[in-house]
Amino acid sequence: MRSGLANPVGTCYNNIVKADIVNDKYVRLGKVRSVIRDLFEYGNARKAQIGEENVFDFSLGNPNVPPPAEFDAVVGELLAACDPVTLHGYTSAQGAASVRQAVADYINGNFGDHVTADCIYMTCGAAAAIVITLCALCNDGDEVLTFAPYFPEYSVFAGQAGAKLVAVPTVPGAFGIDFDALAAALSERTKAVIINSPNNPAGVVYSAEEVSKLCAILRAHSQKLGRPVWLVSDEPYRELVYGGVEVPYVMNYYADSVVCYSFSKSLSVPGERIGYIAVNGAAARFEDVYAAICGAGRALGYVCAPSLLQHAVARLLGRTSDISVYAANRDRLTAILRGCGFDVVTPDGAFYLFVRSPEPSAAAFSERAKGYELLLVPGDGFGCEGYVRIAYCVSPQMIERSVPAFRALAASYGLL
Ligand code: PLP
Repeated sequence: MRSGLANPVGTCYNNIVKADIVNDKYVRLGKVRSVIRDLFEYGNARKAQIGEENVFDFSLGNPNVPPPAEFDAVVGELLAACDPVTLHGYTSAQGAASVRQAVADYINGNFGDHVTADCIYMTCGAAAAIVITLCALCNDGDEVLTFAPYFPEYSVFAGQAGAKLVAVPTVPGAFGIDFDALAAALSERTKAVIINSPNNPAGVVYSAEEVSKLCAILRAHSQKLGRPVWLVSDEPYRELVYGGVEVPYVMNYYADSVVCYSFSKSLSVPGERIGYIAVNGAAARFEDVYAAICGAGRALGYVCAPSLLQHAVARLLGRTSDISVYAANRDRLTAILRGCGFDVVTPDGAFYLFVRSPEPSAAAFSERAKGYELLLVPGDGFGCEGYVRIAYCVSPQMIERSVPAFRALAASYGLL
């Protein structure tokens, strides 16, 4: 990639060695875009060519529902009522004290008495929360386990922490925890296990029994190692559940736990970058863990989470955008796909369908779908071959317009 700019003050180099001038690890990360982003960019180019309404873009987990009206109202009130120098100034690195108190009160009031304000660290969304947490917990050579399919950025975040991400297979088709596979994956290097329930991309929500059994296994392994195996719960979809499904709160099951929360999806504000880390107050060596989180946030240059957003979400805890739209989309799209002969498990949460590819290669299926202007993400990047992810945080109108395309795609496989 060339900037195209002439450099009148440049030095002429002869034997330049690439490794000498930049960090190759980051060059690779910067150049290899995620499959999801690639498909999204392809979709944008295609929309410019054939018209937005003719492309059925199911690629990105960007909420299509606007934030609740209270979000704008609260931001307006803050802007009108607060001293602008304070409101737009730096907060404490871990977040404004009043905000952390509000978050702690919310957690204790809804899930059990687990935290004080000094257990909370405000972040730029769940991505920052996870990378800070893994950097805080891991040393070089450690292993971080997670259940496949999983959010692909976990491997980037684990790598940043000097650790290796180990994907543990789940029960085929249903994607619940496979406890034998978990037992086989645990080792003396296991430092942490990340769970993501409701899950991106499978939509699975772990039951209380599953979480309980997982924690019993982790407790036994911690005992064996003589140190904690940390349980990190990535929860951007906590409120996005359907049919009254409960999402167990890990702190009720396991002391050495950290919750990474985000308001991106619940309030439909992913571009605003706001979330938090909650460290269980009962965790082993709590003070060191929290200090390491502050240290990792500092080393990664986060300084503090956006001040205006911190104060806004503190007043909106528990509020969500209109998630009934996702519930309706889930039902409609599941019915359409089943009607076409595709193999779909009804998800309990989040806003994705993980659909079995009718041919062994999900990449080939995704490529063929593009021919019908359907953008479906191949699941290999999520650590699970043979599936595509369909994000249904899209307009109901687009879902209706996509029906003939799904039917033609299914017919091309002889499913109809
Ligand atoms: N974790 C999971 C499972 C996600 O799906 C996402 C975003 O899609 C994130 C973390 C990052 O979310 P945020 O916008 O809060 O950084």
